[in-house]
Amino acid sequence: MLRLPRTVYDAEHLAFGEAMRRFIAAELAPHMQRWEEEGMVPKAIWRRFGDLGALGAGIPEQYGGAGDDFRTLAVAVEAHARAGMAAPAFELHTGIVAPYVVHHGTEAQKRHWLPRLASGDAVASIGMTEPDSGSDLAAVRTRAVRDGDAYVVDGSKVFITNGIVGDLVVLVVKTAPERKAKGVSLLLVDTSLPGYRKARNLKKVGNKAQDTAELFFDGMRVPADCLLGEENGGWKVLMSELVQERILVAVRAAACCEAALEMTARWVKERRAFGGRVFDFQNTRFRLADVATETQALRVFTDRCIELHARGALDMHTAAMAKLYSTEVQDRVLDACMQLHGGTGYMWDYPIGRMWADARVHRIYAGTNEIMREIISRSL
Ligand SMILES: Cc1cc2nc3c(=O)[nH]c(=O)nc-3n(C[C@H](O)[C@H](O)[C@H](O)COP(=O)(O)OP(=O)(O)OC[C@H]3O[C@@H](n4cnc5c(N)ncnc54)[C@H](O)[C@@H]3O)c2cc1C
Repeated sequence: MLRLPRTVYDAEHLAFGEAMRRFIAAELAPHMQRWEEEGMVPKAIWRRFGDLGALGAGIPEQYGGAGDDFRTLAVAVEAHARAGMAAPAFELHTGIVAPYVVHHGTEAQKRHWLPRLASGDAVASIGMTEPDSGSDLAAVRTRAVRDGDAYVVDGSKVFITNGIVGDLVVLVVKTAPERKAKGVSLLLVDTSLPGYRKARNLKKVGNKAQDTAELFFDGMRVPADCLLGEENGGWKVLMSELVQERILVAVRAAACCEAALEMTARWVKERRAFGGRVFDFQNTRFRLADVATETQALRVFTDRCIELHARGALDMHTAAMAKLYSTEVQDRVLDACMQLHGGTGYMWDYPIGRMWADARVHRIYAGTNEIMREIISRSL
């Protein structure tokens, strides 16, 4: 439906995207409503994502992955978004958490975790946010105190995606609280450790089949060799991984806008009112013309960012722009598309209503859009 041809993917990416599309239609879509009611996706589905190669994108082949091509992950995320699926949160697992281990892990850490992450035998999460610190990440209070061959961890996290199904959490802790950001460390924590407690699976407005948990740590002894990177060096690592997190949000948002445009154009050509098609009202055509134009502009910007990121050349300010712009376009597009569906659009059974609800969090997580504006303004 968009007019400008895409050049970011080659034939192999497109074939992988098509395989993902078929898998999602056959094995995800028919069960999503039940999983939304259950608040999570079964582990077996994670393994199916692993079998297909969607979890190994970015993980080197020697550790069971598919090698380092961001576009493999991007094309999979697009297929997932176009189908209106918000779960499982595989891009967090593959595109956000696995790179911490790939880029900063020791050989032993890589050997232990990466093959299991690539196959889906282990599910990954990241624990940054706490009840009293979200945007202000340096204010985290979860404390890790070195005691012999272990860190003793006490504290809690909230809103952690894959927090219930997760086997691994990259945990943000304070090892030197008086040093603020310079006292932050990262631990690779096996969620089966004594003292690790998965609490509530939180009820959300959207993304209902993604589990989002509260976690508590009570005298949890984490072996010292689970430290990721250097002690008190966690902040730099966190900052270096945020570019990919933000471009992934844009990849999903752009694909979601395209799907919404297509389904709405179809809907208004079938739906009738006042003796004609809803499409024939000038208001409908003008709204859709705006949606198509914004979606096209977003596609061009996002593809350029994908292309740059695939060769390691996307900077943090442009990634913040991509996250900001894509999620604000997405909100406008989905709102217009839902309006054109009338009451039907508000029904949970219809993909447009779900997409609208699922998308709203994109302006909040991966750094809120207000924080994106702060980052962008620092480059001006
Ligand atoms: C569904 C979901 C999944 C999530 N998954 C994860 C996860 O897997 N791991 C994880 O660690 N976290 C996760 N989060 C947490 C998410 O990253 C935070 O909610 C987000 O960073 C915002 O933090 P906060 O909720 O504490 O809001 P606050 O930081 O309290 O912000 C409240 C408001 O103040 C604004 N604000 C704050 N600081 C500034 C400023 N300097 N200038 C202007 N405005 C400002 C914010 O933009 C926001 O509008 C998830 C959240 C949700 C909802």
